[in-house]
Parts: sequence; C-alpha cells; structure tokens
Amino acid sequence: MSLILLLSFFFHLNSPINIPVTGEVNPPTDVTLTYQFGDSIQVDATLQEIGSIDRAIIIFQTDSGAKMQVPVSITPDGKLSGRLDLSDNPFKVFDHIYYWFELTDKAGNVTKSPSYWFDYLDNRFAWHKSESKWFTIYKTEATTISDSDLQEIALAGLKRATDLIPVSPQLPMQIYIYPDVDSLSSALGITSQDWVAGETRPDLGVIMVSAASADTLRVDLERQIPHEIVHLLEYSLTKTDYTDAPKWLLEGLAVNGQDDYAATFDQELSSAYQKNTLIPFEQLCTSFPPESSQSTLAYAQSASFVSYLLATYGDNKLTEMLQSVGTGGSCDQLVSQTLGKDLATLQAEWINAAFPKNHVKKGNPNDYWLLLLILPVVFAGLWCIRRHGSAKKKSEPNNEK
Ligand SMILES: [Zn+2]
Repeated sequence: MSLILLLSFFFHLNSPINIPVTGEVNPPTDVTLTYQFGDSIQVDATLQEIGSIDRAIIIFQTDSGAKMQVPVSITPDGKLSGRLDLSDNPFKVFDHIYYWFELTDKAGNVTKSPSYWFDYLDNRFAWHKSESKWFTIYKTEATTISDSDLQEIALAGLKRATDLIPVSPQLPMQIYIYPDVDSLSSALGITSQDWVAGETRPDLGVIMVSAASADTLRVDLERQIPHEIVHLLEYSLTKTDYTDAPKWLLEGLAVNGQDDYAATFDQELSSAYQKNTLIPFEQLCTSFPPESSQSTLAYAQSASFVSYLLATYGDNKLTEMLQSVGTGGSCDQLVSQTLGKDLATLQAEWINAAFPKNHVKKGNPNDYWLLLLILPVVFAGLWCIRRHGSAKKKSEPNNEK
C-alpha cells in the first residue's frame, strides 16, 4: 500500500477561517493535497489565467498558530505545485491545518485564494477501525487483540473513570493503538522521552496508546487506555484550563483509573520515604521531573496522594477542584479553597496515613548524628556497669569454686 494516501475523504474545500480574497486574479482550481505523515505535504492546483502573476506561495497554519510557508512553482500552462518538508515536525498529529495561496503580480499586488483545510492524521499505517456507541478504536496488524476484547478493555476503563470523575463524557472517544512506543513517540514529535507510552489530545477527544512489546500488549493496554480515558474526563471539567490544573491531580486521578497500579509503585514510595526523598507536592503542580526515576516517583506519589484525598474528602471535592481550575490563584490556593487546608499540611497528613509510625526509617542523616552523640554516653554507661560488676565480684570471694 502506498504510504501517500490521497486525502479525498479528509480534504475539505471550504473556508472555515475568514481569509479575504483580494486582487483581480481568479483563484486556483483543481486544488489537491497529498501528504506522507512526518515527511512532506504536496499541493497542486491550476491557474486558468496566469495573467501578470509573477510568483506564488502556499501558507499552512494550524488552530494553535503554527505557521509555515513554501514557494510555489508556476508552469507556463498555469500548473501550480508546492511541497512542504515535514522532517522538522512543524505540525502535531491530528492538527487541523488550513492552507491558502498568495499570488503576487509583477506590480507587487497580492491575491489571496480561499482557504482549505485538512486533518493531519497519521497515514503511515493501515488503520483497522472498530466502532461502538462509546469508542472508535483504530489498530494496526501488530495489535493481535480482537475488536470485541479491545472494546471491553476500554469500556471497563470508562466505568472506572466515571466512578472517579462522575461526568458524562463526549462519545464516542477515539483510541489509536500504535504498534510500538517508537512509532507513537515519532507521531508526537518526541525523540528523547521514550517513557511516554500514552498520550491524549483531550480537546479533540483522541487517545493514543502503544505497546512496549507483543508479550505485554494486553497488560499495557489495560493500563494505558483507562489512564487516558480519565484525562478525557478531566478535560470535560476543566476545558481550556486543563493545562493549568495541578499536574499531581491530573496524573494522580489517571493512575487511580488504572486497575491495579499500587504494587508497581509500593517499592518506589517506601524507598523514597525511607531516604527522605519524597518530592513536595508544590513542586508537582505545573510539571513532573523529566528524569525517568524522578518521574516515576512523581506518578507514584500523585497516585497515592490522590487516593488518600479521595478516601478522606470524597470524589466530589476533587471534581470541584477540577471545576475551579482557571478561577485565578495559585495551585496551593486552589487546594486550600477546596479542601480547607494547604498542600504542605495535606502532604504531612498523607505521609502519616501512607507510612505508619512503626515503619522504621533508614538512611536519615539526622539519625546518624543522633547515634554519634549517643554512642559515647552508651559506652561510658557500659564501662561504669562493668567496673561496678568487677568491684562486686571482688567483695564476694567465696562465690568462685
Ligand atoms: Zn497521564
């Protein structure tokens, strides 16, 4: 199958943004666009009358404002052709991309054509689609799980997610299952953070997940799909303020949406507690540390903290917190106004609940200093006892036989 797909069904000849048509030149006709994801976009068109047109460009622009332009070649019979190189990943997967021509005549007058648009879908793979009332799931041939099992995994995740966040999501959700982590990373334009296994475009209702290997496919999907579904529900409460929500809250809820996450993080948490390296939650409000080990700890802490908050304050309070995002104020203020306590106080309470007092800490440097201070006293005491014992023995000569 050719990697370049004619986008007849993604391609729309309408003008959703208001680009004025100026000048006297008739706009190009027979406009066609093809692209190979991550490689190039090719646009061809015809000018019925070249007239005094001297040069032309095509401008591409996304909803988020990313903008690129390329020169257009013009043949004497009016064929226009422009190619945009995508190797630097100027656009993200699922971007809604507008494009239009700007034609300049010899006198410098510029004519803008109507604008056209297309959705930048990942056409590197032959996606197989399965549909239900709740989900449209796309998979490649590498995903060997049946359509009905995939729908079942997603539905179980949706039930857990709506238990945590009781809202009605926008349906159907779209789920893309990438064949491996690398192909998902390249779709997202990520090259260095290879631990990103799942991603959501909550504004579009799209989830992207991947499997680390064929052996772990089902386990990976049972973990990732519910996690990403929670993110979609969070978005339905926060809308465009989603990225301003405390990161520990977004990720903590998402991990709680996974079926059995606790065992994965137990070791990480107790080790950090014993070494006194737990991260203050104030530091996890806007982002997580990029280093893999610290990032895992951030997820582990957030999951445990949110689990504690859910048990103590109930899901309604966390829903209220998400709804209050964007009303102004800091992360700490958001928490205080919803739960009546600041983050540091809540962190201390969580530590008391998560790590019971009989859980002996090791490795605290203060403990070593205390030991150094106590040791001379202990030795002095032992020396006195020994001397006292010796003196006693001398006063009881008849005990020895
Ligand atoms: Zn997440």
